[in-house]
Amino acid sequence: MSKTDLIIVGSGILGLATAFRAHQQGRTVHVIDRSSRPVGSSIQNFGHACFTGQADEIQDLAMTSRAGWREAAAATGIWAAETGSIVPAMTEPELTVLQQFADHRGAAQATMLSAEEVATSVGNPNLGAIGGAHLPLDMRVDPREAVPAIADWLADQGVDFTWNTTVTEVADGTASTNRGDFHGEQVIVCPGYQLSSLFPDIAEAHGVRICTLVMSLIERPQRIPSGFAMLTGTSLARYDGFAAMPGASALREDLARREPDLVDVIANLMVTDIPGGLLIGDSHAYTLSPEPFIDERVGDLLLDRATSILGIDEPVVRQRWLGQYADSTDTNFILERPDERTTVAVVTSGIGMTLSFGIADRILGEEAAAARTRPAPHSPPLTPTADEVVMSDR
Ligand SMILES: Cc1cc2nc3c(=O)[nH]c(=O)nc-3n(C[C@H](O)[C@H](O)[C@H](O)COP(=O)(O)OP(=O)(O)OC[C@H]3O[C@@H](n4cnc5c(N)ncnc54)[C@H](O)[C@@H]3O)c2cc1C
Repeated sequence: MSKTDLIIVGSGILGLATAFRAHQQGRTVHVIDRSSRPVGSSIQNFGHACFTGQADEIQDLAMTSRAGWREAAAATGIWAAETGSIVPAMTEPELTVLQQFADHRGAAQATMLSAEEVATSVGNPNLGAIGGAHLPLDMRVDPREAVPAIADWLADQGVDFTWNTTVTEVADGTASTNRGDFHGEQVIVCPGYQLSSLFPDIAEAHGVRICTLVMSLIERPQRIPSGFAMLTGTSLARYDGFAAMPGASALREDLARREPDLVDVIANLMVTDIPGGLLIGDSHAYTLSPEPFIDERVGDLLLDRATSILGIDEPVVRQRWLGQYADSTDTNFILERPDERTTVAVVTSGIGMTLSFGIADRILGEEAAAARTRPAPHSPPLTPTADEVVMSDR
């Protein structure tokens, strides 16, 4: 069967970002996916590249990823908005955390906005915020466009894609599938939340489970600006960059008092726009085998809170879905080499769109370093450094 420099298992954003970088390096690449097109976490999300909210310790990784997204957008022609994120402060604790964050990171990363400016930014003159912030470095893509378009572009450039083919085992340069074996110098496995079907021991060692998130798509009123992305107080409590601020505990206590329902569903209330409308979410539930059912109350709760900030009285819901991503109890990404020709890479937190291109560089860098030093067959895991093991979007 066919032989190539690099086999990549998984056509989600992590596999595709790695394919993009490897192709740039002049390597022959072959992507294998069990689906007939990308349908995993990478098309189910907000398309929000939240570089700014990541912890200080992974800012280098986040900025490498930002550069990768810009390069990929320029090469492939996908829509990528550099409009940043808006964070309205509806309460004093939210304003305090934003001010502390802006003082900590500086104006290049966070600019404070007046109540009027934030109302204009979200297109709702009656917002009632007391201030807010603009995070100019955050980016947006349309996940439903970006991931298939990157795959198409790579295919046009000569990257091989084998769709509708399930990989059943990977070892020593061979990817065994339900259609036979494929051989490569190296195999990089990016299966997302399906990690346990291929490497159950790695999944178990990191407590990998599936996080499910209730999402909606509603019609976008014209007054809401295109490229719009909004985080809220629940996001400030959740993303490590904000949550490291001294005011974060008071913010959490305030949220628990004012918004117990949002806290109960572990909400990260966010809104982003795509050409099809406004994406609204999300809640978080963690388990090994998720319920397939969408709890209408959770969808309605998120819709109600988001549309009240946006001043939309009668939202027209076009779609609802239950997104899924890989989560771990102990790390936000797994990067391991079970043998000297196999790398396993999974983002185990809700930040895979954000970090994809940074992690792709890391995967290829580690793989090149390993090839130079020819490690023993059972080399130690290349997991993130202690500084990087931060839980940015649990
Ligand atoms: C609702 C929601 C909101 C999110 N919001 C954000 C956000 O705002 N910002 C952010 O940065 N991240 C966000 N995320 C997280 C982000 O979407 C994921 O971290 C990221 O998409 C993971 O990419 P991936 O390539 O690892 O996985 P996936 O996109 O799931 O791709 C994995 C691929 O591997 C294939 N595969 C698996 N097993 C096999 C096998 N045995 N053989 C062949 N193929 C296989 C699958 O078919 C799939 O195509 C969100 C996720 C969800 C669900």
